Amino acid sequence: MLHRLATLTAERESGQLLRRLRTIDHADGPWLESGGRRLLSFCSNDYLGLAQHPQLIAAFKRTADDEGVGSTSAHLICGHRREHAALEEALAAWTGRDRALLFSTGYMANLGVLQTLLARGDLCLQDKLNHACLLDGAQLSGAELKRYPHADVAAAARQFSSRGGAAALLATDGVFSMDGDVAPLRELADLCAREQATLMVDDAHGLGVLGSDGAGSLSAAGLGQHEVPVLMATLGKALGCAGAFVAGSASLIDGLTQLARPYIYTTAMPPAVAAAALAAVQLAQSETWRREKLAASIARFRRGAAELGLPLLPSSSAIQPLLLGDADTAVAASRHLEQHCLLVGAIRPPTVPAGKARLRITLSAAHDDAHVDQLLAALETLPAPAASPRRV
Ligand code: PMP
Repeated sequence: MLHRLATLTAERESGQLLRRLRTIDHADGPWLESGGRRLLSFCSNDYLGLAQHPQLIAAFKRTADDEGVGSTSAHLICGHRREHAALEEALAAWTGRDRALLFSTGYMANLGVLQTLLARGDLCLQDKLNHACLLDGAQLSGAELKRYPHADVAAAARQFSSRGGAAALLATDGVFSMDGDVAPLRELADLCAREQATLMVDDAHGLGVLGSDGAGSLSAAGLGQHEVPVLMATLGKALGCAGAFVAGSASLIDGLTQLARPYIYTTAMPPAVAAAALAAVQLAQSETWRREKLAASIARFRRGAAELGLPLLPSSSAIQPLLLGDADTAVAASRHLEQHCLLVGAIRPPTVPAGKARLRITLSAAHDDAHVDQLLAALETLPAPAASPRRV
């Protein structure tokens, strides 16, 4: 068995697909210190720049002082603290859902929802570019999994045709994690209504960023609980904390509480994290300037990249991928940027399809114009062949 791991690892190494752990010694806004160097990060998911906000830190410290660190148990034993309850209430109100249920991670939330709602004999449709944990959840559920080409609502509609009498659920990322584009949510909601299928949206990258109130891609699309009965989103990205939640009707939340194994059989998140996340929800709602600043940085970056002829994907979210093609080119580009004190991850297969390796550039309200300009200046000096796609 260990031999198999060694073989697979060697295969990855030969294809420039090996991922290396980097230890960050210190974080200071968008600046990270690693190996004695100070790097400007364009790869975190801290889209609103809240991870180091004094109010989050104060809430975290206060709760740790009062309650200690660990929740000491699963929610259904004695781990469900008032900080969790208050956060669930705030998340439900913000997203316009009846109730919300906290999970320790987004990965677990998606496994929990799909394992609970689906069973053998059911049909699960998913966008080809959905996050890995949505795919894993469907596979674990035993339902038939069909993946439609990215954002192709007509193809999804055709996949319903062989459904027979099976119950069906369609799951999609709200904002796609590696491409940054937004799913055709209104069309998918209409399709699910026609097919009497349940629509589930993973809004890990939309919550906090999209919608005038920051309530995410569903709020931006004007879709309520009736149209999208299952909303999942995370607390570790724009909210700067950790964990996740599922929001929807009381019967959805009651059912998950009773049946979702990744909810039941795991330790509840530390109450101090829940308290910090509540502070983050309040800031994400009240400090609208964060979304405005982020939007201005996105526009500045896209304008500058277009002037340089860089092959950006059509994304208006905080995720701005630069498509480079093969893994070698993406790795070389990432290394080149690091020489310019910029940290941008090279995303390679299997995270993205072969031939679609890229730099996943993420912008944040923590970035200033000067940071964006620094990135653009370094991108301008990318050596060939990374620069060659500019000509196409
Ligand atoms: N869904 C999406 C779309 C994600 O990008 C991620 C995290 N990368 C997750 C779910 C998992 O969330 P978490 O990191 O909280 O496990």
